Amino acid sequence: MPRRLLPLLTPEQVSGLNPELADVIEYRKSGLSLNDIIGCPLECGYCVRHLFSNFEMKTPRRLVGDEAAVESLVSHPYFRPHTTPIQLYNRATDPMLPVVKPHLFTKLRMLDERGLTNHVLIITRWRVDADDCAALNSFKNLRLTVLVTHSGIEDTRIEPVDFNIAAESLHTLYEYAERYRTILYWRPIVPGLNDSPEHIERARELSLHAHATVFTGLFFRDEIKEYYEGHDLPSPYDETARRKIMPELAEQRIMDAYESRHMPGGASWGTLFRKTSCGVAYAHGEADYNGHYGIKELCDICPPKQIARCKGTWRKPELAEVTREARALGAVGDVEVNDRAIVVEGLDEPPRYFLQHGFGFQCHAREHPHLYRQHGRAPVGWEAENGTDPT
Ligand code: SF4
Repeated sequence: MPRRLLPLLTPEQVSGLNPELADVIEYRKSGLSLNDIIGCPLECGYCVRHLFSNFEMKTPRRLVGDEAAVESLVSHPYFRPHTTPIQLYNRATDPMLPVVKPHLFTKLRMLDERGLTNHVLIITRWRVDADDCAALNSFKNLRLTVLVTHSGIEDTRIEPVDFNIAAESLHTLYEYAERYRTILYWRPIVPGLNDSPEHIERARELSLHAHATVFTGLFFRDEIKEYYEGHDLPSPYDETARRKIMPELAEQRIMDAYESRHMPGGASWGTLFRKTSCGVAYAHGEADYNGHYGIKELCDICPPKQIARCKGTWRKPELAEVTREARALGAVGDVEVNDRAIVVEGLDEPPRYFLQHGFGFQCHAREHPHLYRQHGRAPVGWEAENGTDPT
C-alpha cells in the first residue's frame, strides 16, 4: 500500500519560520543533524522547540522532500562519509511518531544504500514495536543507535507523555536488537524534581534493558524559562544558561547509587555514561568519537575495557595540521593543542565540531572554557568546586 506522505510547508509558510528552523541541517555536538520535519504533538515542557518559537506547531510538516533532505546532508561541506555522526529528527519532532516514521525509515534506507557506515542517532520517547525493530535491524551499513528518553518527571504539565510508553519501547528495542543498539537516555535530571531514590531506582531498572545509559541535565534557556513562568510551572532554576545544567548534587546522588553496585548485595546496573557519544561508542564496541578521553575526569565511571579502547585510538593531533585546518575554517588568534583539547578562537560550533569529529579530539572555544569536572555543562549548581581548572 503506498504510504501517505506528510504535507510540505509552502514557501510562504517556510519564510515565516525562525530561519534556524528553516535550515534543515544543524551541526550539533553528537553529529550533523537533519531536521526536515518540524512540529510535534507531545508537548514536553522543556522541549528545545521553545528556542525556535515552534512549540505551538503540533502537526508535523515537511520542509523539503526526502531525497532533497538526504542530498543536503551528504553534500553538506562538513559531511564526511563514514566519519561524521548523523542525527535524524532530534530538534523539532519525534522520529517515531506514526506520521514521521515512514520518512525516517526512507532516509535510513537512502543513507544505507549509499554504503555509508556513519553513526546515526535517533532519539525518541514514543512507541517502538517489533516491526519497527525489524526495520531498524535491516540496515546493513549504518551504525544505528536508538536513544529512548526517560525523565521520570511526574508533573504532567512538564512531562505529559506516559512514562510507560518509553519504558516499553526500550524493552522492545533491547529485546529485538541485532544490528542496531539502544540507549536509555536518562534526562533531563533536575534536583528535587526527579532525582529521588525512587526515581534513581526506576532508572536503574530501565538501565538493565539498554546497551548503555546516558544521564544528563536540562537545557534551561530564557525561552524555556518564559514558558514555565507563563504556565505557572515551578521554575527548576533561578537562572538560565547556554549549556545544560546538571548540578553536582544530582550527579553525586546518581554516582552514589551507581557505585553501590560494587557493594555486597548491591543491585546491578547497566553501564552509565555522562556523555552521549561515550554511550553510543560503548554500545557499538568502539572508542568515543568526540575524544572525551582527553577529559580524564569524565572517564572515572567507564568500564576498563572501554577506557582501553579510547586510550588505544586517542591521539593528540599535530599543532601544524590543526592550525592549517582551523585557519581554513576561519579561526583567528592562537590555535592551541593541549592534553585535553584543541582550543580555537573565532569559530562557532559547526566548524568546531567539524574539527572535533575529524581529529577525534575535543575542540573548545577559548571564550567558553570547559572547566574541570563541569565539562561542557553550565556552572549552575557547581559553586563548591567553582570549576577550578587543573591545567
Ligand atoms: S573512556 Fe572516557 S572517553 Fe572513552 S567512552 Fe569512557 S568516558 Fe568516554
